[in-house]
Amino acid sequence: MAKGELDLKIKAAVVHEVNGPYTIEEVDLARPGTDEVLVKIAASGVCHTDAAAQKGDFGNIYPIVLGHEGSGVVVEAGSSVEKFEKGDKVAMSFSWCGECPACSSGRPWGCYRLYGLNFAGHGFHGGTPLSQNGKRISNFFGQSSFAEYAVVHKNNLVPVPESMDLQIAAPIGCGIQTGAGSVLNYLKPEPGSGIVVSGCGGVGMSALMAAKLCGCDPIIAVDVVESRLDLALELGASHVVHAKKTEPVKAVHQATGGKGVEYAVDGSGIGECVRTAVNCTAPFGVIAVCGAAYDLQINFHEEVTAMHRTLTGIIEGHSNPGLFIPQLISYYEKGIFPIDKLIKCYDFQNIQQAVQDSISGGVLKPVLVMES
Ligand SMILES: [Zn+2]
Ligand SMILES: [Zn+2]
Repeated sequence: MAKGELDLKIKAAVVHEVNGPYTIEEVDLARPGTDEVLVKIAASGVCHTDAAAQKGDFGNIYPIVLGHEGSGVVVEAGSSVEKFEKGDKVAMSFSWCGECPACSSGRPWGCYRLYGLNFAGHGFHGGTPLSQNGKRISNFFGQSSFAEYAVVHKNNLVPVPESMDLQIAAPIGCGIQTGAGSVLNYLKPEPGSGIVVSGCGGVGMSALMAAKLCGCDPIIAVDVVESRLDLALELGASHVVHAKKTEPVKAVHQATGGKGVEYAVDGSGIGECVRTAVNCTAPFGVIAVCGAAYDLQINFHEEVTAMHRTLTGIIEGHSNPGLFIPQLISYYEKGIFPIDKLIKCYDFQNIQQAVQDSISGGVLKPVLVMES
């Protein structure tokens, strides 16, 4: 990997076609441009959005290297990169342009170019750093972190303290900041206010831990998997509702003296669960929807307008990653945000199993470890 070589030869998990398997192959990675950084990936979380892209939900162009919750160590930084240098630990988050009205007003999660920069298959400047035998390979979230190395625009990178475990830092960049941010950045619940978390996967459980940090009471977790409800209790839920055994709206009203809760977060992305979360709230309830609820059907007047409720879709937890990820890391290091409880590590070679466990929900947050 001497400087001056045109491309680096790296191993990456390539998906060649819609619904195709991940195959670990040698690919070429272009050297970083002036505002880019070459990162040796230490670990990468597996998110449901990777599975959606594998199925072609975003009109993806194949072949593609997925992965968008990477962490690692800087190998080389371009000449205009001031914040990072060789040897720095980093986490990667979503890509944002830094210039549009949303980015300029400190709201990168609402970047006007968010879709193009994260899903359209190219990097920050239009091309992709990945290829194989001269054939283009699509980039994902400006990261493509299911690989040994990545070339990443400086906007995607967040500093990670030397003391922090990179396997724990990796998934903060998407799933964990999405759930935690829906509570800490958007809902901002008052201590003593009630909250329902509907769908206790990685996103929902992160929201639940954030609700605990805010002093919410009650914190009511709703799911259909017993082990998730057990973990929810361990992480701070005051009540749990198994939605196949107990009707959640009724259970929540019983737990709150008939009032309902002030806040709800949906981490499931299932329309019916979102609707349930809405109806668990009292008048003036605020509901944050983190999942992609394509199938939501609701009587908007009766269930939202007439109840003075606010229903908001949340992308990336309304997070400014450069500020919010270090904040979450500090909470983790203080022992008040135990994300390690959500994580199971897999060797990179076992990517197929990790993705399978993410889809089945058997593991809340699989994390691939690039080398041990
Ligand atoms: Zn922007
Ligand atoms: Zn994600």
